[in-house]
Amino acid sequence: MTQVDELLTFLGEAVTPFHAVAAMSRRLTSAGFEAVTAFDPDTMAPGKGYFMTRQGSSLIALRAGQGEPNEGLRLVGAHTDSPNLSVKPNPVVGRGGCVQLSVDVYGGALLNPWFDRDLALAGRVTLLNKAGQLESVLFDSVAAVAVVPSLAIHLDREANKQRSINPQKDVLPLVMLGEADTFDLKAWLAERLAGENSDYHGMRVMDYELSLYDTQRPGRVGIDQSFIASARLDNLLSCYAGLSAMIDATDAEWSMLVATDHEEVGSASTVGAQGPMLMDALTALMPAPQRNQTLRHASWMLSVDNAHAVHPNYMDKHDDQHSPRLGGGPVIKINRNQRYATDSEGAARLRLLAERAEVDVQAFVMRADLACGSTIGPITATETGIPTTDLGVPTLAMHSIRELACVEDIPQLTALLQAFYRRLA
Ligand SMILES: [Zn+2]
Repeated sequence: MTQVDELLTFLGEAVTPFHAVAAMSRRLTSAGFEAVTAFDPDTMAPGKGYFMTRQGSSLIALRAGQGEPNEGLRLVGAHTDSPNLSVKPNPVVGRGGCVQLSVDVYGGALLNPWFDRDLALAGRVTLLNKAGQLESVLFDSVAAVAVVPSLAIHLDREANKQRSINPQKDVLPLVMLGEADTFDLKAWLAERLAGENSDYHGMRVMDYELSLYDTQRPGRVGIDQSFIASARLDNLLSCYAGLSAMIDATDAEWSMLVATDHEEVGSASTVGAQGPMLMDALTALMPAPQRNQTLRHASWMLSVDNAHAVHPNYMDKHDDQHSPRLGGGPVIKINRNQRYATDSEGAARLRLLAERAEVDVQAFVMRADLACGSTIGPITATETGIPTTDLGVPTLAMHSIRELACVEDIPQLTALLQAFYRRLA
């Protein structure tokens, strides 16, 4: 399987942050990484990999180097979450002869593309087992179980000019015919889970975090198949590139992959980039405060998150001199107002790394008259003091239900991250 096919397979498996962490854990385990509850340098062997997960939706993987990490760590950071429609706790609504689920919008979703898609339901379900203990399991309906039909143009003649979307009212998916009392989501989940695994038989669903996703598989598009189209390219593409670089760079010195949840809602959570997860891991590695500080200052992090490629239909949305193209290679993201963490020394070092890895890089700066988005880069740099550089592959349709990137950029990013772990610069 090519690297791109492997990425498409991963994207198809990683339908929620919980599934993303499970899919990453499986790959790390089969590459010989050991699952641990916390890092313990006293039990680590040089060259061996370890990983830990937190609350099922964030993960840190580590490859131990020779001796102590006096030269600092090399860290790749990315996020596991993507904007979506998330099912509310008491969701069932009956209207117009149909059963619907009420939903919340998670993150800055582009809502238009959610209409008329065959949607599945997935996430984490917490069960009460027969011993009276709570147990969380993954759930994925796999099959399309929901749809948000558009309002026909005949009932809204201005639809192409000025239709706006009310997230409370307009995006409730239909799940079946009937009245509100026809359907009990928790009972349905319990039945489905018991059908998949007899161990879950008779267990009660206490709560869940479920979201909808598009059942259309990730795939290649274009006359010469040069594009890849998928949900969640932002930012599972970066998670996957970081993961495969870490697995392949077997000779790398102390290196880390940090994949955190909740970036799309600001990263302030137990398992988000603003939470204590990374600092806890660094403290475990180097408990003495002064030496820990020295370790952090000697380290370098790449915050890898997708960059806005220039859109051929909207060329004026980019600064002419900073218009990354699909297929042009990874993009260094710069914002002097610190929406990205990149500084000139980090960018210079990254350019040198790219030269040595024979990877082309581009630069992105937001138009001065448009507000710039942000990443985990400035947050992680603020929390840890680790010098951080932001980059990512050029992407179109960011935060749509189906985003677009370019086949050629995938091996470029992976090669760059491998060179980073191998300290080519
Ligand atoms: Zn992102």
